[in-house]
Amino acid sequence: NFVVELKDICKKFELEHMQTDALKNINLQIKKGEYLSISGPSGCGKSTLLSILGMLDAPSSGEYLLNGKNVAELSDTEGARVRNKEIGFIFQSFNLIDEINVFDNIALPLSYRDNKPSNAEIKQKVEECIELVGLSSRLLHYPKQLSGGQQQRVSIARALVTNPSILLVDEATGNLDSKSGDAVMEVFSNLNQQGTTICAVTHDTRYMDHASRQLKLLDGVFWQNEEIRQAI
Ligand code: ADP
Ligand code: ADP
Repeated sequence: NFVVELKDICKKFELEHMQTDALKNINLQIKKGEYLSISGPSGCGKSTLLSILGMLDAPSSGEYLLNGKNVAELSDTEGARVRNKEIGFIFQSFNLIDEINVFDNIALPLSYRDNKPSNAEIKQKVEECIELVGLSSRLLHYPKQLSGGQQQRVSIARALVTNPSILLVDEATGNLDSKSGDAVMEVFSNLNQQGTTICAVTHDTRYMDHASRQLKLLDGVFWQNEEIRQAI
């Protein structure tokens, strides 16, 4: 009953005859309802791992099962559909569209659907998601009229609107002061308590104890805490 299963995932980059092993034989299973935090220093492979989990990049070798389905066997169209439906992304930089209001930003992932929901269904879903992040009064605002922390909460609502299987979070608090960062982390904790599966990567260890499981990535491999202690 795993949402995500990575089996022996390797990722190599080749740049001007220099080869980097960004990920080395990564094995990872994420259970439904889990809140996993992956931390590690710059360059350890966090972005690479998140790109693979988010189906934005393919591994050099190994297998990725999402809800039991081998991602490599999906066609491009099917892969795009699965990514849009099953994966919610949250980025450090929010990635909201400044020209449209909060409602339309949150509704956007629904408009890429083959079977686009009715306007009434869209309205209901957007209102449900904005309430989950505590910003119901801001639906008609534009992103630039909101604080950084509020913008990040809007981006969380947008990530939730398709009922994804997992939220992938990349340094969610990286651009926020600590008070807004705390508010955003509280949203993740609440969502997880209501059953949302989360995988968050960060080099910021401050918020790691919000997670139900913590892994450390160093030079493309997971380290057990015990091994790290011995290495220091
Ligand atoms: P992190 O997100 O933890 O900072 P990355 O996943 O971005 O780490 O990078 C892991 C390693 O892979 C680093 O050595 C980085 O330089 C290398 N790398 C990442 N992306 C590329 C790329 N597109 N081409 C070449 N090397 C890359
Ligand atoms: P972050 O610090 O936000 O995790 P990174 O600096 O690791 O982001 O990477 C930003 C982008 O640059 C990523 O898309 C990554 O694949 C790419 N990248 C990282 N390192 C290299 C590299 N050595 N050569 C080429 N591209 C890279």
